[in-house]
Amino acid sequence: MASGVSPDLQAPSQPPAGARPVFGREEEARDYLARSVWRSAADALLLQNLRGGAGWPPGWETAWRHVFAGGPLMDVTEARVSSDLAEVVPPQLASGYRAVCFYRTDDAYYIAMPEPGDFLFQDQLLALTGTASRRQLRCVRACGDQVLEAAGGTRKRSASQEAHAAGVDDMVVATVLNSERLRQVNPGRLDMEPKLFLDWCLYQGWLHKAADLHFEGIPGMGRVRMRVDGNMRVLARAPLPLMTGVVALGRDWAGPGCSGDAWVPGDGRFSFRLDQTVYDVRAATMMMGSGEYPFPKLELRLLSKEIRPLESMGFEDSVLKMLRRMSRMPQGMLVFTGPTNSGKTSTLYSLLKEINRPDINIQTVEDPIEISMSGVNQAAVNEKHGVTWAKLLRAALRQDPDVLLAGEIRDAETAGIAVQGAQTGHLVFTTLHTNSACAAVERLTGMGVEPFLLGSVLLGISGQRLVNRLCPRCRRPVKVTDVHRDVFGRAGCADFLGDVLYEPRGCEHCGHTGYAGLSLIMELFPVNDEVSRLVMQKVPSPDLEAYFRQKGCRTMFQDSLRQAAAGVVSLEHSRLYDRNWMFAA
Ligand SMILES: [Zn+2]
Repeated sequence: MASGVSPDLQAPSQPPAGARPVFGREEEARDYLARSVWRSAADALLLQNLRGGAGWPPGWETAWRHVFAGGPLMDVTEARVSSDLAEVVPPQLASGYRAVCFYRTDDAYYIAMPEPGDFLFQDQLLALTGTASRRQLRCVRACGDQVLEAAGGTRKRSASQEAHAAGVDDMVVATVLNSERLRQVNPGRLDMEPKLFLDWCLYQGWLHKAADLHFEGIPGMGRVRMRVDGNMRVLARAPLPLMTGVVALGRDWAGPGCSGDAWVPGDGRFSFRLDQTVYDVRAATMMMGSGEYPFPKLELRLLSKEIRPLESMGFEDSVLKMLRRMSRMPQGMLVFTGPTNSGKTSTLYSLLKEINRPDINIQTVEDPIEISMSGVNQAAVNEKHGVTWAKLLRAALRQDPDVLLAGEIRDAETAGIAVQGAQTGHLVFTTLHTNSACAAVERLTGMGVEPFLLGSVLLGISGQRLVNRLCPRCRRPVKVTDVHRDVFGRAGCADFLGDVLYEPRGCEHCGHTGYAGLSLIMELFPVNDEVSRLVMQKVPSPDLEAYFRQKGCRTMFQDSLRQAAAGVVSLEHSRLYDRNWMFAA
């Protein structure tokens, strides 16, 4: 952590009431360590080795730091912390930094904490309270255990901490956005409150349909970026003290998994309400950097509540028809592949929404539940409470589902359960992180699924990507050249090609990026008896793909060329999805 004490933050020369210096001089401290603490620490280390798990004796670490880092160490065991004083340091900071205000004069607050020179703490405190000026803070060094003891019993939990504690895993509506007011906010104002700033960022994220918001600290400045249509763009800049306050608030809203020690990566959730609708947010925090400029970066993922109808997803008619046919089979397995953010979850939700009827028992196992769907039994993995993928999948199968959505296949165990489910009368939808549909077969057999089993249960395999859609207002036509004809020809797509292709240009409607929205690129291969035999014979995935191409199925690459020829996506983006392009001129 940042240490070193600025002139303004010097500890008082005379100890305030309730605190007395443990060591006046360094020699005394060394002597103290030599006499008791150091020896007991050595003993503790020995015990730890012997028994595996005894912690350091209280006070050892702080006393040891004192010797090397300087600054008087205060004993605050006799401090009487009233509830008024305890409120000076907000709970979201108090527990993480082990800080307590134990004394107040007309012009200063005295705060005891193990790391009194931590500027991050002081900035966050100023941003959150907004009352005390920097000169009014007097931070003194004290043992963390003593601080917690002194503060014990007087601390009130913040509203969202209360709510998290009461509702266990339920989502907490942390803030209500007032769109009228937020429309008039000027984010450049330096004296903005953290809550208003965070509200404004959430509102902007919602307005731009952003997938996530990133709150970052770079030396001397805070920055908020958002991901819109797969691309990061800067939403706002803010002074570092404001940004630290915003991050502290966001972490507090996200609950205990996120609001503890800033140095430990954490995750949590909260909700916000806007115009009578509640939106869910997933939060993740992680300390970036070290030394003088550490910053706990906060990432907020805005979970979309919208499930689009299958026909609006942009599938080709033939693919849509095939997908619908597969989803009405009584049993078997349908595997959706693609990297993170390729829209697999959206496809699955749309599919479930379409087949969701009262006479069909749909069960899901997810991590986490991204959108709740009425009429569908959704269950979430909770590793912290020992509810693992494997356990939950087994339990889900015992619920006698007609359709089981197994959110993701992670390992041999989950693969085995999913295949077993598909074999015993359930229709199983699942996802895998592979680069193409056919690679799913090798991945699953690599996980130990017997090829003859896999061949018998598979109904279909698909691969998909989300690609930036060209802005239709400003896309620029380019004449088709022989190179284009060659590439389209070799991919078996010469028929698609007209006289022109399109490139991005940029206008005010697309934020001068040349792109607006996303387009889904998809391959879907049905597994019939013939393919099933190929799977059982362990045919390599390129050969399997060649077979499907020969049968007239369209690969992702071919689909991207089709969309490029139609002016939906740019040729550059199509190129990304086939490594054979690297050999093209
Ligand atoms: Zn444009």
